[in-house]
Amino acid sequence: MDLGVEYSRFTVPVFTLNGVIMTVEPSLEDRYGANNYHPLPVVLVRGEGVYVWDNEGRRYLDMMSAYSAVSHGHCNPRLVSVLTHQAQKLAVVSRAFHTDQLGPFLALACELTGMDRALPMNTGTEAVETALKAARKWAYLNKGVADGQAEIIACQGNFHGRSIAIVGLSSEPQYRKGFGPFPAGLKIIPYGDADALAQAITTRTAAFLVEPIQGEGGIVLPPDGYLARCAEICRECRVLLLADEVQTGLGRTGRFLACDHEGVKPDGLILGKALGGGLLPVSLFLARDQLMRVFGPGDHGSTFGGNPLAAAVGLEALKIITEEGLAERSAELGREFLESLRSIRSSLIRDVRGRGLFIGIEIHSERVAARTICERLLDVGILSKETHDTVIRLAPPLTIRADQLQDAVERIRRVFEVLERSVRKVS
Ligand SMILES: *Cc1c(COP(=O)(O)O)cnc(C)c1O
Repeated sequence: MDLGVEYSRFTVPVFTLNGVIMTVEPSLEDRYGANNYHPLPVVLVRGEGVYVWDNEGRRYLDMMSAYSAVSHGHCNPRLVSVLTHQAQKLAVVSRAFHTDQLGPFLALACELTGMDRALPMNTGTEAVETALKAARKWAYLNKGVADGQAEIIACQGNFHGRSIAIVGLSSEPQYRKGFGPFPAGLKIIPYGDADALAQAITTRTAAFLVEPIQGEGGIVLPPDGYLARCAEICRECRVLLLADEVQTGLGRTGRFLACDHEGVKPDGLILGKALGGGLLPVSLFLARDQLMRVFGPGDHGSTFGGNPLAAAVGLEALKIITEEGLAERSAELGREFLESLRSIRSSLIRDVRGRGLFIGIEIHSERVAARTICERLLDVGILSKETHDTVIRLAPPLTIRADQLQDAVERIRRVFEVLERSVRKVS
């Protein structure tokens, strides 16, 4: 196949595919890809630290970092070095054998989180599924729930992934519509309301699955004390607390885990995204010993989960977070960033909220589309993405510097000023 590609963003460039003239490069994705994303109009070709470059050499500050998967910065040299070294040595052997890489990775992950055991998977979705399977089996083995009757409780506005069971727990109509039937025994309660949890629990309840801060839901912070109160209720009712920290974990919110803000130790913990250092999909389900013991050989697994390449990268990703104090950086820089963003005066902004470098700007979506803001941010060299049509997510790599954040604030301020003027003209 001959791809004579010619890129450009503003003209309508062409390329040839097997000698046939076709339109711009992104249209290759449109023509051959499924239509399940609506990317912003930019073609990225390179990344380094907090920056990425497009095919025309324009530089962008990445304020999205792949939904927190790139907390260590793009192509982090320490991680790339470990990746390439391990890739040349041993990469994938399956879990049919021991390797020298998996043990140290699981050990450090358990030590840093206070959990007893860890089960490696690849994506966040898989690790959440693992947690749900563990919780159900625990309820049958340890709580005397009748076979096939175990219940899982989750929250409105949650995001735990896209598998059929997990979208069965979603309250978002678009994620569910057309994908049923869903497994039985799933229940949804309002987020941030501990009393609702207490009321929803029955003798059949196995677990409460919760994000300490909702990410995809729009950077939603529950009231102070919510998680601690939920942990108490779960303990009293012998219900497992499963914390989904795929996005909030690993320093993102200013502590190593978001649970740490309230001194909560969950029964099961789910990590992903940044665990792969922005290079690979690496996830973990971690748990207290009694919960993890429900799994025996053959009960659960993954061909790629815990492979030496992933384990080596995951171990280095954890080391970097602690050695370079990324959680502390996130807390400190996040505080200043939040304050600066709040100083932007615009009638288009409804709320600015967040914790650490995990910040959302909620806009008046009836006056301006969140996507329009993201497109204007792109024009001034900032990558971001809206969530739920109303919130602009700002979650840069945790390696970002204060001056780079200040630069971002000024660009964001400019975008809101210009938009405000044009909105006023229209109305
Ligand atoms: C992204 C995310 C997931 C799913 O992770 P994938 O790697 O996309 O499967 C699960 N839970 C939360 C909280 C997430 O943000």
